[in-house]
Amino acid sequence: MDRNKLVDQLKEDPDIWDFIIIGGGATGLGTAVEAASRGYRTLLLEQHDFAKGTSSRSTKLVHGGVRYLRQGNVALVLEALRERGLLRKNAPHLVKNQSFIVPNYDWWEGPFYGIGLKIYDKLAGDLGLGPSKHLSKEETLKYIPTLEPEDLNGGVIYHDAQFDDSRLAINLVQTLFDHDGVGINYMKVTGLLKANDLVTGVKVEDQEEDHEFEIQGRVVVNATGIFTDSIRKMDNPDNNRIIQPSQGVHIVLDKSFQPGESAIMVPKTDDGRVLFAVPWHNRIIVGTTDTPIDEPSLEPRAQEEEINFLLTHAARYLTKDPEPEDVLSVFAGLRPLVSRGGSKDTSSISRDHTLLIDPSGLVTITGGKWTTYRKMAEDTVDEAALVAGLDERKSNTENLRLHGWLKNSEAAEPFEMYGSDALSLKKIAQDHPGWGEPIHPNLPYTPAEVVWAVRSEMARTVEDVLARRTRALLLDARASIEMAETVATLMADELQTGEEWKRQQVQEYTELANGYLL
Ligand SMILES: Cc1cc2nc3c(=O)[nH]c(=O)nc-3n(C[C@H](O)[C@H](O)[C@H](O)COP(=O)(O)OP(=O)(O)OC[C@H]3O[C@@H](n4cnc5c(N)ncnc54)[C@H](O)[C@@H]3O)c2cc1C
Repeated sequence: MDRNKLVDQLKEDPDIWDFIIIGGGATGLGTAVEAASRGYRTLLLEQHDFAKGTSSRSTKLVHGGVRYLRQGNVALVLEALRERGLLRKNAPHLVKNQSFIVPNYDWWEGPFYGIGLKIYDKLAGDLGLGPSKHLSKEETLKYIPTLEPEDLNGGVIYHDAQFDDSRLAINLVQTLFDHDGVGINYMKVTGLLKANDLVTGVKVEDQEEDHEFEIQGRVVVNATGIFTDSIRKMDNPDNNRIIQPSQGVHIVLDKSFQPGESAIMVPKTDDGRVLFAVPWHNRIIVGTTDTPIDEPSLEPRAQEEEINFLLTHAARYLTKDPEPEDVLSVFAGLRPLVSRGGSKDTSSISRDHTLLIDPSGLVTITGGKWTTYRKMAEDTVDEAALVAGLDERKSNTENLRLHGWLKNSEAAEPFEMYGSDALSLKKIAQDHPGWGEPIHPNLPYTPAEVVWAVRSEMARTVEDVLARRTRALLLDARASIEMAETVATLMADELQTGEEWKRQQVQEYTELANGYLL
């Protein structure tokens, strides 16, 4: 994946694309894979890096959503449970079974949540990941030895799935290329082309070269998450605002706060939120919050009250109380919730997806969640093909193995996250002495992964490597800053950039990563 070559080809390409998709998060990438795998000529454009937005900042769960069951939204849960099963089948190297413990401190919680979770099991049917069951106090503490034992009556265990969000996004980019599609990062859409009031393409600005040009397409899909309204306003300045961003914050703690394989799920905190504490890449992720935010941003920042809320609640359920200095990283993401009727209470706004076709033919897909990205994409391509007058072609993504597909992850060790690409990484590590060794003692990432990210995953900056190709920024922001110089040196050799590029990259990364520290 040579970005420079791709951009040159794009500028010279006289043909019209069938699909132009704006936005390289879960929704846009899913739509691009859906279109390309049906044989449509597909181009995806991302203004920053793939998954820079919300799609690298999730709780990392592929789930039916127990809490939507409580809200009575059975259809949404059913759809998500089905997609959970499909994603596990199509990306087994990234999607794992995860056990969750609901601790019961009040007498009524055991039967109440026990019944709810049995319904959840039933809805999953054959795609279930294991039955839920009641646990005694002793059994509960065996699963989570650091759970607060005082007043604990017992618990309920149930199963959902967990994944690595930005790694899945990168695998979707690779799947797009595997199906003759094209995806380019750092390519911002700045305007829409029109003829007779119909959208016929996009104006883009290459963020690396400050260069503008135009691209023609039969249909343009707006999959820009929290930025949805900015593209709809390019189409028609009178379009109403439909997105109400809602911020969710996570803190990351050392595994000693919650050893073992199981996660904790608290169905209802003081303010009615669900709280998760989930093991992920040998750390614990605690989240999340639900705070309405006025303006969309690519680098949202956690508010003090949100961090206090997470620290206080983690302390309530864990024997060892986390202090601010224990937080290895804090990250915030913005949910692209679609507000109907101007509601500001974001916890009550629908998590379902919204598909809009404007009179200009602009197709907008937004809302939803990572878990349901494939179904959102299928619906979008069905509609968009009609809008564009393209011949009808059936979806085949239910059974489409994603790039990296590998059933036996042990074969990929120590590069399990890369699935079938692990062999290529091992070769890079073997061919260069030292490239298979971790760059930093606190994190597993090696020079081989940095080089691979540049050569095969279109990484362009130190941030791309440390935040999304590897997860160093989220797992330990301080250690990731200490890795930046080595990563910049390796990348500069691959990209053939100079000393000034290196210096600037390290400085920019350090400034960014400092925002992930308390
Ligand atoms: C805190 C939190 C926790 C979550 N946890 C989960 C979870 O555990 N499981 C789950 O299933 N879901 C979860 N979600 C939901 C899920 O993460 C989102 O629904 C999903 O990532 C949204 O993807 P998207 O592609 O619509 O948006 P984004 O990922 O934001 O992608 C939109 C992209 O469009 C690009 N863009 C914008 N304007 C332009 C332009 N002019 N030109 C080119 N590109 C442009 C942006 O740079 C961005 O990369 C969570 C969300 C949050 C916030």
